[in-house]
Parts: sequence; structure tokens; C-alpha cells
Amino acid sequence: MKLLVEELREKRTLGDAGLMELLTSDDPSADACLFAAARETAEAHFGRQVFLRALIEWSNICRNDCLYCGIRRSNPDVRRYSLSRESILRCCENAWRLGLRTFVLQGGENPPAAEKLAGLVAEIRASWPQAAITLSLGELPADTYARLRQAGADRYLLRHESADPAHYARLHPAGMRLENRLACLRTLRELGYQTGMGMMVGSPFQTTGNLLADIRLLERFRPEMIGIGPFIPHPATPLGAYPAGSSERTLRLYAILRLMHPDALIPATTALSTLRPDGRTAGILAGANVIMPNFTPAVERAEYTLYEGKASLAVETAENIRKIHEELAAIGRTVSPSRGDYQENLSKDTDNHV
Ligand code: SAH
Repeated sequence: MKLLVEELREKRTLGDAGLMELLTSDDPSADACLFAAARETAEAHFGRQVFLRALIEWSNICRNDCLYCGIRRSNPDVRRYSLSRESILRCCENAWRLGLRTFVLQGGENPPAAEKLAGLVAEIRASWPQAAITLSLGELPADTYARLRQAGADRYLLRHESADPAHYARLHPAGMRLENRLACLRTLRELGYQTGMGMMVGSPFQTTGNLLADIRLLERFRPEMIGIGPFIPHPATPLGAYPAGSSERTLRLYAILRLMHPDALIPATTALSTLRPDGRTAGILAGANVIMPNFTPAVERAEYTLYEGKASLAVETAENIRKIHEELAAIGRTVSPSRGDYQENLSKDTDNHV
């Protein structure tokens, strides 16, 4: 196992058999070796710093009907909301004052509303010229992506969800196609967005072979950001009776992908923290280097339930940031004061990884 990890670290890739072995191993000492290598690689490229992103769940109104997602269109139990302009600006102000330098506007898929967000993006850009603006609004027409980019958005998160078209189809309503999602990702990249992809671990029907295909797709596309979290069932969805994904396997994927993409921005996701209270630090210690604390006002936060038992539901924002600083200090990490844009070959000395 140690040899496989060394090979992955050196070559930044590995054959299918080797990757399968790393993904499925249930030997804790193999994980320890994998995580240590990933941690060292992250450190060689980013130092001991972690980037924070302020997550603002701006609306749960969604035209889409993803079979796993709690805010899908056909869930009648959701009280639908969109944050007002003032409320979003307050979230940004709050985040800026607490030292965060990236604002992430995430929401349901709602093309007309997304189109109207361009004005607000321009306003945020003018008010906080030094902050990065990330969007995560699903699949939109190319000209909407273009207008949002022109208004000042820097990055876009659009998980591919599954690299296998047949598996993808089992997670999504008829009419939604992997091909469209990948076309959106290519458009985003062409428009100059730093682009994020990713998938859930342990989504229903997912095989280890599916995850391998995900790893290969990421390897071909080389996104700047890689967002991965465990699947967590939501009872009011068609897939609500399937078991949650494995947090161990999620951590293994962070580590494998860190070794394959030394410069990528990889968050320790909220879904992971929902499955295990030490999710943030466990993620960082497996090679992740981003944390996305929630800045959505408490009332709306409770209505943005993609899955059951979402972590940090009741946590007050400033208190949460204080806690993150503490947790990171305890594992010898600090919060970076910078925006944390993607930079290729950050490392000054790539050979120094002992
Ligand atoms: N509507 C936007 C962004 C919101 S969903 C979009 O389509 O990209 C953000 C991510 O949450 C999704 O990409 C999905 O991978 C994840 N997610 C949704 N439901 C989930 C669940 N039940 N468990 C874990 N993650 C989930």
C-alpha cells in the first residue's frame, strides 16, 4: 500500500487497479499513510494555511428535480425563499468583517432569477473589490453565465455528480443529462471562470467503478476546485431510504485527489461535517484546504435543507468562525488572509515532501 501511495505522489496518477485498491482498502494503516502523503502535498503547495469561503444560500427556489436533493421542485414541504438584496449584502459585510475574502452565492436552479443576479454581483464587486465572488446556481444558458462573469463573478461551482451517464440518469429526472452538465462546465471554463466539479460519495447505485470514472473525469478536466461530500438521504425525496455515504471513503478521495491535483482547492464539505463532528479537521488532515462556513441568515438556513441533519444549522456565524480558528490552531493550521485563487505550480520546492 505504501508503494502505491508513493507512486501516486510521484507520478500524480495511478493505474485503475491501484486506485481501486486505495479506494476500497479498509486497513487503517494504509489510510494513515495515504492521508500523511496528501497532507504533505497540500503543505508543500499551500503551507499550513486554509482558505475560508462564506457560503450564502441565497434561494431555495428550484426548477429542477434531482432525486436526492431536499429542495427539489416536487418537495411540497419546503417553504421557498429568496434573500433580498439587502440581506445578501449584509451577509457579505458580515463575512468581510470576520476576515473572509470569498463570497459564495449558492442556490436552486432558477434561470430568470440568476439572470437578475447580475446587478447584485456587480454591486458586490464594486463594494468589495478585493473579494472573490463564487457562484453555484446550476445549469444556466451560456449568455447568463457570460453576463454574470462580466458583472464580476470569478468562480463557479457545478458538480458533475457522476461521470457515468447511466448512473447520472438514475440520480436525475428524465431530461437532465450528463452531457449538458459537462457542456456547461466547458462554457464556464471558456468564459474564464475558475471552475469547480465534484460528486457525492456513496450516492445510491454508485459503484467503486463509478468513482474511478469520476476520478478519471477530474483528471481529464483538471478543475481548479473539487467539491466532494458524502451522500446523505433526505426523507422527502425518492432516494430518501438509501443509506448515507461513507465518511472514510470521502476522506480517501480527498487524499487521492490531492495527490493527483496538488494545486486544487478542495473543501472539507458541510456534508462531511454532518456525518462526523470532526469532519472539518479530518478533511484538512486528509489533504483538503478549504472550509465553507455558512453565512445564510438562520431563518432561511433552516429552509435550505439539501439533506437531513445539516451541520451548523443552529450555529451563530461569528461563533462558528471563532470555532474554526480554534479547530485549525489545534492541528497547526491557520486561516489564510488571501482570496485563495487557483494558482498553478504554487510550490517552490516540489521535491521537498518528506
Ligand atoms: N443547484 C445548484 C447548487 C445547489 S446543490 C447545482 O445544481 O449545482 C449543491 C450540491 O449539493 C449538489 O451539487 C449535490 O452534489 C449536493 N447535494 C444535494 N443533495 C444532497 C444530498 N442529499 N446529500 C449530499 N449532498 C447533496
